[in-house]
Amino acid sequence: MTDNKNSMANVTPLRPTRPCPECKRPSQREHYPFCSSRCRNVDLNRWLTGAYVLPAVESSEDSDGEEDM
Ligand SMILES: [Zn+2]
Repeated sequence: MTDNKNSMANVTPLRPTRPCPECKRPSQREHYPFCSSRCRNVDLNRWLTGAYVLPAVESSEDSDGEEDM
């Protein structure tokens, strides 16, 4: 009961890899933090569409395309 430090040694990975936010697979370095370009595009698309849906624009202008001239 003397050399007990071996049980304390945690197996720490060299670099912590995140799971892909889309499919929870281990991410690839080339597509970090995603596992593939496909998942990256999926996320990017969602982000872009989400930006469009953001209810931040209050359209008080009545511009229906009808010009009163
Ligand atoms: Zn993925």
